[in-house]
Amino acid sequence: MTVELRGVSLTYQSPEGEIEALRDVSFSLAEGELVSLVGPSGCGKSTILSIIAGLMPPTSGEVVIPEGRIGLMPQRDSLFEWRSIWGNVTLPLSLHKTSREKREQDEQRLRTLLDRYGLAEFAAKPPSHLSGGMRQRCALIRTLAPDPALLLLDEPFSALDYQTRLVVADDVCSILRREGKSALLVTHDISEAVSMTDRVIVLSRRPASVKSIHDLSEFGDCTPLERRDSALFREYFQTIWKELDVHV
Ligand code: ADP
Ligand code: MG
Repeated sequence: MTVELRGVSLTYQSPEGEIEALRDVSFSLAEGELVSLVGPSGCGKSTILSIIAGLMPPTSGEVVIPEGRIGLMPQRDSLFEWRSIWGNVTLPLSLHKTSREKREQDEQRLRTLLDRYGLAEFAAKPPSHLSGGMRQRCALIRTLAPDPALLLLDEPFSALDYQTRLVVADDVCSILRREGKSALLVTHDISEAVSMTDRVIVLSRRPASVKSIHDLSEFGDCTPLERRDSALFREYFQTIWKELDVHV
């Protein structure tokens, strides 16, 4: 078990009064598992990630987080244009004081990742030389820099156009699986959740509580694109769509 939330509630105090964001949220994540959190926008998804990342304590309930670091990949890739690709991916390392030996190990791992995922030749270039999909891959490698025990991805594809996001989602998913990382993916996109992850946790409207949890192991080893082509995919999509109770 890497993460466990037990009866987590959170109420924000704002000048306009209290905003109840989470009510009695419980779920857990196993080692190496990719899990998605889907819910209507504003329901409290980012709030859950902030609590797991330790940015704020819950108002009540308990949170168990893994030993080791947690990598947070934000909605926008937030690469710095004035730094090279290498300067960007090594940035998280500069934020932690480590021994010279550890730093060299970390840098070696980053060189391997850049090489494995086709970015080595761009190392000295600024991010403006990369396509949208490559930028996302670069942002993911930066999140992997401190070798985190857990990755938190907050709607990481929302800035990409539809075609690009299909390919990038496939790409990110295979990188996470190959690197054996546990990850929690927040999305409002049902098809992204069903195509990429091992389990989908469906959240209610605000205050978020867990409505249902779907185990997707029936998909076996299918890639995200293969999943999207299957009848099983449409079944899950429709079930979750009904649970989400989307209004326009
Ligand atoms: P989601 O990520 O699902 O879109 P959030 O977790 O960002 O939702 O926000 C949940 C609710 O809490 C929203 O109604 C939002 O306006 C409110 N909220 C988020 N952050 C704060 C804050 N710092 N202070 C007050 N209210 C907040
Ligand atoms: Mg959010």
